Amino acid sequence: MSLKTILTSEHDYQLQYYFDETQLAMLQLLASLTTVLLKPTVVELKSYLQHGVTEQQYDEAIEKIATKWFEDDCFMQSTFPVEAKIADGPITKLISGIECGGSANALGLFSEVEQADAVCADCVHVLNYNLHMNIKGECFGPTGATGIRGGGAITTLVAGKNVKTTVLANTVAIDFFETFANLDEGAESRYMWDLPPSGDVYFAQKIGLERGLFALAYHINFPIEDKKCVCDVCGYSSEYTVTTFQRVKYTGSYGSTKNGRDAHAGWWLHPYTPRTEKEDGTYAVCARNQHWQSWQELTAYVVGKEVEKASVKPALIIDQYRKLLIGRLDLLVGGNIADQGSILGRVYDLYSMPSSLSKNVGRISGVVDAGLEQKERLSISFNKLFGIGYDKKFVGGIKEQAMQRFTANAQQIIQQILLDVDRKEAQALRQGAVEKLNQDAKKIFTAVQRKYQHDLPLFKALVKGEHVLYQPSNK
Ligand SMILES: [Zn+2]
Repeated sequence: MSLKTILTSEHDYQLQYYFDETQLAMLQLLASLTTVLLKPTVVELKSYLQHGVTEQQYDEAIEKIATKWFEDDCFMQSTFPVEAKIADGPITKLISGIECGGSANALGLFSEVEQADAVCADCVHVLNYNLHMNIKGECFGPTGATGIRGGGAITTLVAGKNVKTTVLANTVAIDFFETFANLDEGAESRYMWDLPPSGDVYFAQKIGLERGLFALAYHINFPIEDKKCVCDVCGYSSEYTVTTFQRVKYTGSYGSTKNGRDAHAGWWLHPYTPRTEKEDGTYAVCARNQHWQSWQELTAYVVGKEVEKASVKPALIIDQYRKLLIGRLDLLVGGNIADQGSILGRVYDLYSMPSSLSKNVGRISGVVDAGLEQKERLSISFNKLFGIGYDKKFVGGIKEQAMQRFTANAQQIIQQILLDVDRKEAQALRQGAVEKLNQDAKKIFTAVQRKYQHDLPLFKALVKGEHVLYQPSNK
């Protein structure tokens, strides 16, 4: 299936990959390709979203671009410098940055290494894209490099009702990007496999939209083996197999890294990346630990949030979609939860947002705040445990486990409640959220009480803390 078919046909295609990671990377990749192909203005993009793209429009657009840069043996692959020391690795690593050989780095992963050790030559491109945009450099140790987004960053995309609308809704309008990206006049727009970046610092304002959307961090090569396989990523039979890749990292730094920030490289406005702006620079939002759940940051992803000495900004693509005012926003939040070189877990959540988002932001934040408030209450209700002279680690563990359960359950509850965000008033939504979340907090708390009913000091401390969960809600 080609990009042309996806964009111009009325058929309702679905992407089907074995791994959410690949699915997410494919959506990013297709939307980025559509951006450089159509280069729409906000007005044009709105029309594409409402009326689709005709074959004629597609053909006219493709006439205008140099398609040679998208050929199989060249796309996103810059050639190795002479005498460079080439590192290689199994293709498995390009799915989530999984270390092979059953090391601790695969902890929390959904897949076994054997589930993805041979892929077809087509899937190489999405894995290569995934490497450059989504995988943390640390996953590859000293031969790893950090890409333009920072690696391990959370991705937020607009989810359409099918692949076509999803791809178009995540296509970047060039005038909208220009308004916010602060690029230099004459910023370089050639792809990096045409002209790799040079110097120690890759200044954001010198990187044009096309160049940045496919920015590289490695010179790369995929040896193609002349043997048949069933691709572990897409599931199709292929005449050719790829099982390894070779890489040489770029030596300069993007503004997404400490070196880059220190050298004032600046943050390149990657359209699918929510970010935190701090005094010392801009950071891509990352999932913090394996018990992190996306609902806690939902308000920030949609409208932004001021926190102490920092402000969280939604990804450009979400701001753009709000400007387009097309209809309801279904928000896809995805990414891996990475800790240094390890992948601890993953995020792939879908949220339904009201059609007139700016009017209804209060509804969403009301629900999210209800969750945060109940979480805080549950936390306080356990605090008496720390005053009974027991080992802090022991009682801390009891609390931690309960908090994790709450945060995980709240993910389901909040996603469910937000499905009604168009139909219910703010007050009713919030009320529903408070009730359900409070019920869950009580249930979790009672289960802990029951477990320790024969441990008198512990049980008494829990009874003392319990009332916090029974107080009426703040707002
Ligand atoms: Zn494949």
